[in-house]
Amino acid sequence: MRCRVVVGAEGRRSVTREQAGIRLHTAPPTHLITGLLVDDVPEWPQDTSMSGTQGDVMFLAFPQGGARLRVYRCTAVDQSHRFTGRDGTRRFLDEFRRVSCLPWAAAVAVSRPIGPCATFPGEDTWTDSPMAPGVVLVRDAAGYNDPIFGQGLAIALRDARMVADLLVGQPERWDACGLAPYALERREGMRRLRFTASLIAALQAEFTPAAGERRARFYQRVRAGTDPDLRLALAGHRGTGDSAAGSVHAGDAQKHRWCASPFIMISG
Ligand SMILES: Cc1cc2nc3c(=O)[nH]c(=O)nc-3n(C[C@H](O)[C@H](O)[C@H](O)COP(=O)(O)OP(=O)(O)OC[C@H]3O[C@@H](n4cnc5c(N)ncnc54)[C@H](O)[C@@H]3O)c2cc1C
Repeated sequence: MRCRVVVGAEGRRSVTREQAGIRLHTAPPTHLITGLLVDDVPEWPQDTSMSGTQGDVMFLAFPQGGARLRVYRCTAVDQSHRFTGRDGTRRFLDEFRRVSCLPWAAAVAVSRPIGPCATFPGEDTWTDSPMAPGVVLVRDAAGYNDPIFGQGLAIALRDARMVADLLVGQPERWDACGLAPYALERREGMRRLRFTASLIAALQAEFTPAAGERRARFYQRVRAGTDPDLRLALAGHRGTGDSAAGSVHAGDAQKHRWCASPFIMISG
């Protein structure tokens, strides 16, 4: 069977990318991120997500409906075995008992795991161009943002929308020229998201005493409200205003309340 264009969307390990010879650049990971889907946390308010840093861990928690939560822990790059092995999931949850700045930490610690406890490098990847003759890559296959920033699905949806609109809007130009607006926007958008993710990682997922002092200074200034631009330092978007995330510090944990738009987090 012959087709005019192959859209590669098979995730991080895209075979289409490999076969098309499209090079994936990778920034060295600055931290690790371990995730787990859990159930039976009815105490958690389903309109609130939280993140924070305490000790040698950054944690994030996102409600998934019902009594479900997706929880993450970011650790230093030398902690790759911290949550592996037969007891890895239990150790992952047990550690929440020590997170005193998270109001529902005890409930998370006794929650029921309903997915794998997997650890990934906190890294950014990108392609100079997500295209080759007869091929266009979208979503993670075209390069992914550090998960610490939670932009993966926003990027995926934006990619799908842009490529679909270009293909449908100009059926006679399914080539590099016709798809150039997508390639250009993605390259610049991913550059911006990389920058923002690296700021967030430096602020939240470095665990040295100096990093802790910098964190404290940063949030003191945010709380004082004298530098409104500081909040923007933690907001990032792909370049056209479609996705943005922001947060404000409250104690050691940050609380995010979701508003009607699926792409915007506002401070709570
Ligand atoms: C730890 C972690 C936490 C994250 N947290 C968030 C978050 O909070 N918010 C967020 O928005 N994003 C998050 N992400 C990112 C998000 O998961 C990804 O960006 C998103 O899943 C990318 O979608 P995708 O379709 O490109 O890839 P995938 O979700 O990987 O889907 C690719 C699909 O292609 C299929 N496939 C693979 N090879 C082939 C083949 N040869 N033929 C046919 N099918 C194939 C796979 O089976 C899979 O179903 C996180 C990622 C990680 C690693």
